[in-house]
Amino acid sequence: MAGSKLSSDYWITEYMTEDDVHLHGVEQILDFKRTEYQEMSIVRSRTFGTGLVLDGKWQVSERDEFLYHEPLVHTALYQHGAPRRVLVLGGADGGAVREVLKWRSVEKAVQVEIDRVVYDACQEHLAAIHQGCFQNPRAEIRFGDAFEVLEKEGGSWDVIICDLSDPLEDSPAMNLFTREFFTTCREALAPGGVFVIQAGPVTPPFDDGHARIVRTLGTVFEHVTHFFSCTPTYVVPLGFALGSLKPLDTDPEPAKVDALLAENVDGPLKFFDGIALRGLMSPPKYLRDKVAQGDSLSTLHDPARYTGTGVKS
Ligand code: SAM
Repeated sequence: MAGSKLSSDYWITEYMTEDDVHLHGVEQILDFKRTEYQEMSIVRSRTFGTGLVLDGKWQVSERDEFLYHEPLVHTALYQHGAPRRVLVLGGADGGAVREVLKWRSVEKAVQVEIDRVVYDACQEHLAAIHQGCFQNPRAEIRFGDAFEVLEKEGGSWDVIICDLSDPLEDSPAMNLFTREFFTTCREALAPGGVFVIQAGPVTPPFDDGHARIVRTLGTVFEHVTHFFSCTPTYVVPLGFALGSLKPLDTDPEPAKVDALLAENVDGPLKFFDGIALRGLMSPPKYLRDKVAQGDSLSTLHDPARYTGTGVKS
């Protein structure tokens, strides 16, 4: 190939569909374990820095994680306006809690992660992402299945953020993209509460799956929107679905947003500001049409499933 220079020692294949794979070059495998719940690798990529791979799916990498964590967290916290108690489900790498703690109003940020082995590996290898956030007295990490914990304990959360791995067959997140789980989350929200979830890629051929999750959320919350961001680690643009117990600001005024952020947020933001939020709140026509025109829902009986998994070569 003229002009190309391949320099990685290992290549990890990630299945995007049953017929399309993406090859991620890896310089070094820093950790590999089969945990009780999943297969975990911590890898170093020359292009994206240190990253986490679960069941062959890339979860996060140092260089571009802000393109995922900032829209996930700040869109929801902005829509709430004055969040005090925030629950993060999944999110072993700590990037979501790191962003939540930037809000001065947040008194408590609790994370429920199912896999302690993955959390410990992220603590060791992904300091650039978690930045010691769990040492903050406002943060707390708990271990357990998010569905079971919420069903048992309920709660009164201002914002619930699902930073979950994909619902692959037999994966721990399998049942968490369903109407039943969304209903459990809704019941654990305080008045005016906001819920947000990573909701799959938004381009064909994945857009039906994204629309199904958004539509399902719309059967549980009166106020729903969806948005996406482009994070190269995930190869394709990744969507988010947001449900709220109060009306949403879907036509934000950038100057007003920036003023609210200046008053409420400590620490630098690289992606998120008023103009970026206005973009996020403007999903393209084909995607709005997909949500409006379909009728399939994701339930425990017939849950959304993504294509997995990859192998090392
Ligand atoms: N940004 C990522 C993405 O979209 O691919 C998500 C990253 S985060 C590492 C995903 C985490 O969700 C994993 O650490 C996984 O262990 C956790 N998880 C999966 N199912 C879970 C469950 N049922 N309860 C709590 N955590 C869960």
